[in-house]
Amino acid sequence: MKSPIVNLSEVRTRYAPSPTGDPHVGNIRTAIFAWAMARANNGKFLLRLEDTDQARLVPSSVDAIYESLRWLGIDWDEGPDIGGPHGPYVQSQRLEMYQAAASNLMAKGAAYRCFCTAERLDAMRAAQAAAKQAPGYDGRCRAIPAAESAARARSEPFTVRFRMKTAGQTVLHDIIRGDVAFENALQDDFVALKSDGFPTYHLALIIDDTDMRISHAIRGEEWISSAPKHLQVYEALGLQPTAFAHLPLIVGPDRKKLSKRSGDTALLDYARGGYLPDAMLNFLVLLGWSLDDKTTIISREQLLQHFSLERVVPNPALFDLEKLHYLNGQYIRDIPEADWLDLVATWADRTLPPTVARPLDRALLARAAPLLKERIPTLAAIGPALQFFFGDSAPAYPRELLWEKTGGGPETAKAVLAEAIAALDGIGAASWHADEVQTAIRGLEGPLGSKLRKFVSALYVAIEGSPTGLPLFDSIAILGRERTLARLQAALALV
Ligand code: GLU
Repeated sequence: MKSPIVNLSEVRTRYAPSPTGDPHVGNIRTAIFAWAMARANNGKFLLRLEDTDQARLVPSSVDAIYESLRWLGIDWDEGPDIGGPHGPYVQSQRLEMYQAAASNLMAKGAAYRCFCTAERLDAMRAAQAAAKQAPGYDGRCRAIPAAESAARARSEPFTVRFRMKTAGQTVLHDIIRGDVAFENALQDDFVALKSDGFPTYHLALIIDDTDMRISHAIRGEEWISSAPKHLQVYEALGLQPTAFAHLPLIVGPDRKKLSKRSGDTALLDYARGGYLPDAMLNFLVLLGWSLDDKTTIISREQLLQHFSLERVVPNPALFDLEKLHYLNGQYIRDIPEADWLDLVATWADRTLPPTVARPLDRALLARAAPLLKERIPTLAAIGPALQFFFGDSAPAYPRELLWEKTGGGPETAKAVLAEAIAALDGIGAASWHADEVQTAIRGLEGPLGSKLRKFVSALYVAIEGSPTGLPLFDSIAILGRERTLARLQAALALV
């Protein structure tokens, strides 16, 4: 064992995912907080892979972890891929350290071998459940004399259990929650080292955070109930614990723990769904932290300058997809014009159906790109928003849609379409511009005896296949004379 942490003035934080699947947004939030904490304090941020649960390993998730962090723009100073002075940074490569620590704990009497079989433990749990008792190890192997334990270890498989205190309290000083006291009598002896020689999280965490000189363990609130275990292991080993910060639970609109349905999917699904990394970073960091009580848009620079755990609140954070769409829309608006067309081209190609011929018409995209910028919540909305520009006819729609939003019936739609055809037919191909189109369509208010906003939905449907969409006059200008008139005729025929 190396010496305990003596100097907490250097902030060293870590993200310690278990590669058991692609990291979900809730989990990545922890990485962001730990990273921001390190960067805001000129500290170091480490990446460590906690792969001790060999049965649940998903090898591809290691790459997904790297990719998720890189996509968000999170960099690390030490980690499995880049090494560092406290490696290796993969737990399965550190087994000897954990085994040494387990032996050390046994030598001190703070841990003991447990020879209970899986069957016996299952039966014990079933009996506890039937008797409505709290689950927990009943302590059968606690008092096996040392000599007997050593002798049995030669022929029987065993785990190493940590001997928890049975009286008094263990108090966690949590940076976010203040002091949290746990009754020792309610704790049970947990497995620190499994029979396969792998540690559990409860042991590995202590060894690694100590060895890697971690100053602050920043982790999800689901670990708070394990904190007394961790504090007692630190104490038994004579080590100074890290500071702890348990981040608030993330809840969905139903106020329940975020689930797959309420948005807790892989971060990379959001990448594939057309969210911008900066927007996602902004959104995720607001799940528990705030700059002040009013700022919603927080740049990366502001975050890395101002982040502090003091401004993290303990109460649950709401994962609000509407807010994410709002933020994403704001970040989309901020994309420089020079980059925007390329993004539109990339995402149009990605999200338009295969029935639309490739390569896509770049000139058309260039004209349509500015219309999109203010209007789409995600880049994945680009294809659906542009689709009506491609092909001779508008995307299919039910005929009722032509009048549903006009406040009238088929007669209204018929009049609107007929008048629009007549007015637009009067514009020559050379003057087919948005302004002329606008004048012609606004001019229908008189003959139709109705306001533009009342009848315009019929034209949206005829042209774009939907009563809302990209601005009509510009769209008609881009679509061109022939196709516009053809679509209006087709709509009229449909009515
Ligand atoms: N491997 C643990 C997890 O993914 C790490 C928790 C921690 O940060 O200490 O939840």
